[in-house]
Amino acid sequence: MRLHENQAKSIFAENGIPTPEGEIATTPEEVEKIAEKLGDKIAVKAQVHVGGRGKAGGIKIVSSPKEAVEASRDMLDKELKGEPIEKVLIEEAVSIDQELYLGITLDRSEGKTVAMASSKGGVNIEEVAENNPEAVSKTYIDPAYGFHDYQAREILYNANFPEETINETFSILKKLFSIWESVEAEEAEINPLILTEEGKLMAVDAVLNLDDSALFRHENLAKLKEEVYDTDIKKKASQLGLDYVSLDGNIGVVGNGAGLVMTTLDLIDYFGGYPANFLDIGGGADEEKMSQAISLVMEDEKVDSVLVNIFGGITRCDEIARGVNSAIPEEIPKPIVVRLSGTNQKKGREILSEKVEEEKELESAIKRVIELAGRE
Ligand code: GDP
Ligand code: MN
Repeated sequence: MRLHENQAKSIFAENGIPTPEGEIATTPEEVEKIAEKLGDKIAVKAQVHVGGRGKAGGIKIVSSPKEAVEASRDMLDKELKGEPIEKVLIEEAVSIDQELYLGITLDRSEGKTVAMASSKGGVNIEEVAENNPEAVSKTYIDPAYGFHDYQAREILYNANFPEETINETFSILKKLFSIWESVEAEEAEINPLILTEEGKLMAVDAVLNLDDSALFRHENLAKLKEEVYDTDIKKKASQLGLDYVSLDGNIGVVGNGAGLVMTTLDLIDYFGGYPANFLDIGGGADEEKMSQAISLVMEDEKVDSVLVNIFGGITRCDEIARGVNSAIPEEIPKPIVVRLSGTNQKKGREILSEKVEEEKELESAIKRVIELAGRE
């Protein structure tokens, strides 16, 4: 679960990492109130889960509360790289002398945590890492021994951090690591860590990516989940433990197993259709889960027809058929095509309601669901 910038920043601030002053707003009126408290140099920042907001137009630096309101009008209720912008962070804008980078993440190939530093921070860090990898200095942290002080100092010196910042950047890096450890994050990053013209250090951006499997140990963070998943459907899906991704088309897709769902999406595309979502109910899903999954997809306004594609292994086709039946109301609002294959397929096909269309072959099921979806 990737936290929003403002959520990550408050965790950083609570743990002693300096961050700019600011607050969240959802309307231009709120923007005005907050901006007036901050003075004339203001940063307006879209709170969406996409990287590279700066380059995509999601970060505006303005010079009056009035301009902050205008900038926020251009963002609120609009989209950034397909994500709806529901909130903006209104912050004091700092004057930048240098942009630095600090990051902690997992290096899965090494089986270790890696700490990274670069004095070429900012929006181009990916290019720096790619074209000029020696500009990012790294050190591996052995989980058995922890992050030694000398390792932290070493990467800061190797990255050519300005001499006079080393003591403080050292302390920020160690704090970043202890946050990473205590919240069980997969990634913690400050990009950029700003050296201001007045010689102060400040985390101007914050990334904190939490390990979903460890969330049960962090009640307070798990609560943030509600705020993180923006749309109602995404929120419900995450509560039900379903893997759900919203796409642009009009054919709802429910399947079991990520591979099968992706194949289904590819085939829909191949035959000229447009998938509206990716929904994986996972292995061994029961009647209830199936029923919830269908209801969820039907709720999506852009869906015109639904394809249920199940390959029964540990998932039983009769359970799935019962789930489909219990999800559909008297009058089906949107046509559903079901393809069941594998464990208990015969039983499943017998049980399946006559209100849905059954197709035995995947290809014919896909062609049929595309036909039913039509296209504006
Ligand atoms: P990202 O593009 O999503 O990583 O968003 P960031 O929060 O990192 O902002 C992108 C860039 O905008 C930063 O690298 C800075 O150059 C600039 N920026 C962000 N906040 C401020 C600020 O308060 N003052 C100034 N002058 N520039 C800022
Ligand atoms: Mn950034």
